[in-house]
Amino acid sequence: MTKKKKLIRLNEINERSWVEINLSNFSHNLKELKKHMQNKQFFMQIVKADAYGHGALQIANQAIKEGATILGVANVEEASLLRFHNIEHPILILSPSFDFEIEAIISNKLTPSIANLHFAKLLNEHAKEMGIIQSVHIKYDTGMNRNGIRIENALDFYQTIEMLENIKIEGIFSHFSSSEDDKDFTQKQYLLFAEFASKVAQKVRYIHIANSSAIIDNQFELCNLNRIGLLSYGVYSSAQLKNKIDLKPVMTFKSKIAHISTAHKNESVGYNRTHFVDKDSHFAIIPIGYADGYDYLLSDKGLVEINGSVCPVLGKISMDMIAIDINQVDNVKVDDEVILLGGNTTSTKVENLSALFNGSSYELLTQIGKRAKRYYIEDGKINDYAPILRRDFIPRDFSDDKLNLIIHQAIQERINKQELASVIYHDVLRYFFIENDRDVSYRSDFTYNIKFIDNHINYYKVELNLSFDKILQNTYFIVACANNQANLESYFRRKDTEYRWLLDESIELDESKFSVSSAKVNGVFLDCFVAHNNKAIEVKCESDKLESFLNKLAHFEIKISTYYPKNKHQLSVYLSEIYKGVSIQFTYPESISNIDCVPIFSGRHRYPKITQNKGSITVASEKNDWIFPNSGVVFSY
Ligand SMILES: *Cc1c(COP(=O)(O)O)cnc(C)c1O
Repeated sequence: MTKKKKLIRLNEINERSWVEINLSNFSHNLKELKKHMQNKQFFMQIVKADAYGHGALQIANQAIKEGATILGVANVEEASLLRFHNIEHPILILSPSFDFEIEAIISNKLTPSIANLHFAKLLNEHAKEMGIIQSVHIKYDTGMNRNGIRIENALDFYQTIEMLENIKIEGIFSHFSSSEDDKDFTQKQYLLFAEFASKVAQKVRYIHIANSSAIIDNQFELCNLNRIGLLSYGVYSSAQLKNKIDLKPVMTFKSKIAHISTAHKNESVGYNRTHFVDKDSHFAIIPIGYADGYDYLLSDKGLVEINGSVCPVLGKISMDMIAIDINQVDNVKVDDEVILLGGNTTSTKVENLSALFNGSSYELLTQIGKRAKRYYIEDGKINDYAPILRRDFIPRDFSDDKLNLIIHQAIQERINKQELASVIYHDVLRYFFIENDRDVSYRSDFTYNIKFIDNHINYYKVELNLSFDKILQNTYFIVACANNQANLESYFRRKDTEYRWLLDESIELDESKFSVSSAKVNGVFLDCFVAHNNKAIEVKCESDKLESFLNKLAHFEIKISTYYPKNKHQLSVYLSEIYKGVSIQFTYPESISNIDCVPIFSGRHRYPKITQNKGSITVASEKNDWIFPNSGVVFSY
């Protein structure tokens, strides 16, 4: 299901700080990178660490549009989040996985990288149990000295894994340590890998070693897949690349001037008095700090862009604020936009900012904007935005309380009218699922026959026959009858009650006027006891034999005898649960003619079929139609 979000224009963004992700630039970068891939080479889009801080979901979707064959993540959690958002593309987990993650790997259809025999065997056992063949990529270490099987043991390990019956080696790979700055070592790593890879090349689908920087200027003949990260985000990994490929920055981190002030000559600005002004100076306060990912090491070094001018950071970066020298800019005022990172000025490019403190572009990107909402821009327009906290939720992480809050807020966001949203939440969701602590159950194949027999002056004798399937929750159930709505009400909230009848007020509430003739579950006759109180007749139907059917789908059959006044001329049937397939038949004596019925069905299928025969009328949905609570039929005669 696609979310319907409010349309926001670029000039309508009202945030303290925000991140713009330019998906058109991302697509442009991928197109440029593809020019450097040899024929028939596929690419894996690396979306680990929330796509280097750009948002894994939106980047994954865009990369898939641009032809990515596989997605690369660091761990099971990141992959599960993509699956939660309905991404069905193959996903490779690049970091080592733990034993406890195997179930999630299998249930989410993920591909782990393998470099550990114990793990591989355990994975094989689980796969065998589940009756599946689990794909893996084997990771080899060719000189980076991080994870992976050392290359001199490569073939042995390969052959051992090959023997595991429920494991399929879909790929083999290695990783460069210095593709951006050491061509010789890169080549050496490739040759080591290629020597082994050539021995198994016929058997595996994917052979890969190159990250994004490696594919510029190098050919890895034996490989057919490239793992594309940093460069696709429009960040150059070295100055030499600038005239070899045209990349456009994808992320721009922005904020606004929150305050403007003046420091007098020889005063210091900010914490620890690291910066003194040598003349009276204007400075602007931007409401972001290292807690927003603007690195502390940019203290006294950082540069931002205001109204097209580059302005230096004054003094220490605070947790939530930075001070900016604005003496060089004319007409600065509170609310003016500030570009902190990215954008088109050279100074604020990620690679240049991180160079100011000898940092890493990768790190700076991944730490930016913990408090900033992301806006996704394509063709100059915002087409999506994502919540402030980087981690979207996976519901199993959450308590009921938290989920309720989210559901309530989500409904309110969707439905413009606050009042209507509250009704939906309180009267529908809370009523059925929360306050009553109901098990979410439903009845299927619900058949209900109501037969009126004309053998009394003032009343019809009524025979009610119900049958349905439902998960059996208890070894008993209640059938209740009251002669006013208020007294019957409490039985609507009791989850052990399977049937309720409203006896007309003119009829005395008495066992002779309402009785359960028989009750069966899966063919077992139940004992029925009448518990009386002055408000209702409560019949308890039970049997120890039901023990063995508990928590399984069971077939219920209930027969009831009661009475209905002749002077009423109308009978209402309420459906108070969720049903899958409903058939309601009303059988009447010859003394009744001209019968009519009005079904009120809620749910997707609102028009049941009405069939009229001699002496009976039937209202029935299709067998698989869902009918929601608060449905019913009114028969009039
Ligand atoms: C992160 C990562 C990449 C991507 O590297 P870039 O330099 O960002 O292109 C490729 N392969 C592996 C194993 C990685 O962990």
